[in-house]
Amino acid sequence: MKRIVLLGPPGAGKGTQAVRISEKYNIPHISTGDIFRANVKEGTPLGKKAKEYMDQGLLVPDSLVCDLVEDRLRAEDCANGYLLDGFPRTVFQAERLDSYLMSQCMQLDAVVDIEVAPEALLPRLTGRRVCSKCGATYHMLSHPPKAEGVCDVCGGEVIQRADDSEETVMNRLKVYEAQTAPLIDYYGEDDRLLRIDGEKTPAEVFEQIIEAIGE
Ligand code: AMP
Repeated sequence: MKRIVLLGPPGAGKGTQAVRISEKYNIPHISTGDIFRANVKEGTPLGKKAKEYMDQGLLVPDSLVCDLVEDRLRAEDCANGYLLDGFPRTVFQAERLDSYLMSQCMQLDAVVDIEVAPEALLPRLTGRRVCSKCGATYHMLSHPPKAEGVCDVCGGEVIQRADDSEETVMNRLKVYEAQTAPLIDYYGEDDRLLRIDGEKTPAEVFEQIIEAIGE
C-alpha cells in the first residue's frame, strides 16, 4: 500500500519517474496533466475549459481540478494506493487532498520532491518531445527517437507538446515558483517530504526514490 505524491518543477522528470514508480509498487499513475490532455483531445467541456489555461502555461482553476481528482481516487483501482503526478499544484489543492484523506481515515505515505536547478529546466523542456500515441518521452539532445519523428516504442508520431514552446515554458516556470513551490514548505513542515536529486540519470534518480520510499 503506497499513496505517493510526486512534486517537482516542470521538466524535473516527474513523468519518466512516475511510470517506473507505478510499475514498481503496482499502483495507478494519476497525472492530472494527462487527464486534461485526454479531455482536450476528445473535445469534452472540461477539455475546452482546461485548454484556455494550459495553452498559456497557467494552472487550471482549483475548482476544476479537485473534484476530478477526488472522483478518480474513489475508483476501485486506488484501493491499494496510487501515485499522484502533477497534483497537488497549489496549497489549496494540498489542503483539499489532506481533508479528503482525513475524511477517509487515510494518509499519504510519501511526498517525493524531485529537485532540479532552475537554469537546467528550460533546455530540458524546450527539447522535450512526446509520442502523440503512447506518451513515451524523448529529448532532442539527450534521448532522440532512433528515426526522426517516429516513436521507438509504438511507431506513433513524436511531437512537441503545445505548452513546451519557449514562451509558454517560461510562464509555467514562473507559475511553478509562485504557486507550486510553496508546497515544499507545506509538506516539509511534517516528515512527509523526501528530497531527491533530480540532476542524475533517470535510473539513478529512480534508485534514490525507491530507497527513500522503501519497499
Ligand atoms: P503537466 O503535464 O503536469 O505539466 O500539466 C500540464 C498542464 O495541465 C499544466 O501546465 C496546467 O495548465 C494543467 N494542470 C495539470 N495539473 C494541474 C493541477 N493539479 N492544477 C492546475 N492545473 C493543472
